[in-house]
Amino acid sequence: MEACPTGAATAGPTFDRAHCDPCEGSVCTSCCPEGALTRTGLTRTVEDLVEDVARDTRFFENSGGGVTFSGGEPFFQPRFLEALLVASRARRLHTAVETCGYAPPDALHACSKSIDLFLFDVKIVDAKRHQEATGRDNALILSNLRWLAEHVPEKVVVRVPLIPGFTDDLGNLDAIAKLVGTLGLPRIELQPYHPFGVAKYAAIGRAAAMPDSVPMQTEADLQAVISVLAASGAPCDVV
Ligand code: SF4
Repeated sequence: MEACPTGAATAGPTFDRAHCDPCEGSVCTSCCPEGALTRTGLTRTVEDLVEDVARDTRFFENSGGGVTFSGGEPFFQPRFLEALLVASRARRLHTAVETCGYAPPDALHACSKSIDLFLFDVKIVDAKRHQEATGRDNALILSNLRWLAEHVPEKVVVRVPLIPGFTDDLGNLDAIAKLVGTLGLPRIELQPYHPFGVAKYAAIGRAAAMPDSVPMQTEADLQAVISVLAASGAPCDVV
């Protein structure tokens, strides 16, 4: 509390996050004797980040791997992402991007030239349900997916996060399989639900969006989903 220059660190200890404009060096973390306070996130440049990735080039050559830009949402910083992609390509790195698809179309089109693989989330096809569940319309997401399917279909893998009560009902999954089939995309990857994000909400002082009591899907649940997708003609994997 004494070290905090903005008065954001208060008794408890608690943080008034509206007043924490992280000071130079985040002094509250450096004076915490037990290392209980940490800062997440670093300021990086394109050059030093790509330099870090390129250190593993030998492994990539053996494994066929490369660099995956994820998040959060990498298209939240589109100019930085594009610069990273161009720099990665210059070093002959295979490039993948995990995206929710809610991206500015201009940035998506420009970056697509330097992306080898889009891992593209499709959560809910019905527009009203998507708005209610995520707080955003899915029109932009679906139009970006259509553009990719038209221009670079071989680079696109649709991913479906199976969120209990939101995305995992068989009606929604059937609609996703039909959409993927209509667009002529090669395959769907299913991502079973896990509660790892709950602890992250607590760490940043926010209420978790999902209760931690939500059970993970069983093997039988996943097989039921795979059957629905297979019946719709969409080959799928669980990742
Ligand atoms: S990082 Fe810590 S010390 Fe710096 S302003 Fe925020 S709460 Fe205060």
